[in-house]
Amino acid sequence: MAENYGKVYLVGSGPGDPELLTLKARRLIDTAEVIIYDQLPGKAILSSMPENAEKIDAGKFAGKHTLTQNKINEAIVQKAKEGKMVVRLKGGDPYVFGRGGEEAEALVQEGIEFEIVPGITSAISVPAYAGIPVTHRESTSMVTFITGHEDPTKEESGLDWDALAKFGGTIVILMGVKRLRQNAEELMKNGKDPETPVALIERGTRPDQRVTVGTLSTIADLAEERGVKAPAITVVGDVVRLHGILGEQLTGAEF
Ligand code: SAH
Repeated sequence: MAENYGKVYLVGSGPGDPELLTLKARRLIDTAEVIIYDQLPGKAILSSMPENAEKIDAGKFAGKHTLTQNKINEAIVQKAKEGKMVVRLKGGDPYVFGRGGEEAEALVQEGIEFEIVPGITSAISVPAYAGIPVTHRESTSMVTFITGHEDPTKEESGLDWDALAKFGGTIVILMGVKRLRQNAEELMKNGKDPETPVALIERGTRPDQRVTVGTLSTIADLAEERGVKAPAITVVGDVVRLHGILGEQLTGAEF
């Protein structure tokens, strides 16, 4: 480890409600020299970044997905090599569909010291704010998290739909808006009951959170009618019924 190198913190911001930032995330954001951020943490958190930190929007490295990721890795590495204390700020938890693992690998390769700061993943907290516990004793004691592969550069979903249709537990889909229709059809084609309840939660934990509830057979049409947009979480399973009982929780925070 080169002595004059800085240190990198891979920090999860949680789902957007600024009060769901961990104390550690807050402290590191407030003391960072460089913050390389995604848009996913949302306005409330991004507007709370300190004025005197150097702020780099990782979105500016737009282009093909892997190329983008390489450029982000390079930027993190370069700033650390300049001796800076770098916060790499990502939505939710950095190691849940966040490519945080790839960034950490790049840091290991370059001999740069880093620390991971887990965040509250949207996969659990967004359903929670919509009144949906991902497990519930009367419904299911299993849950799985999958990516719906919103990434347009990927042709195949690479998911075992047969196994998922048989799974029986709650299925939480991240990045699932664009392929919602195909994914619902895959589940039904493989034997999942078309009446299985499905919830779509857009902008979860934020003041403009919106919940759309349907079934496997109706959700794609409903989403189209209502113009559902990313970021959204899709929950498939009986636990969705609890939304009607446990209701919704909103923060009212300005962001
Ligand atoms: N690392 C993140 C996930 C990154 S993948 C985490 O742990 O939460 C990006 C996907 O996360 C989005 O497409 C969406 O499915 C989900 N997501 C993140 N924040 C969200 C929010 N506030 N509301 C709804 N979905 C969200």
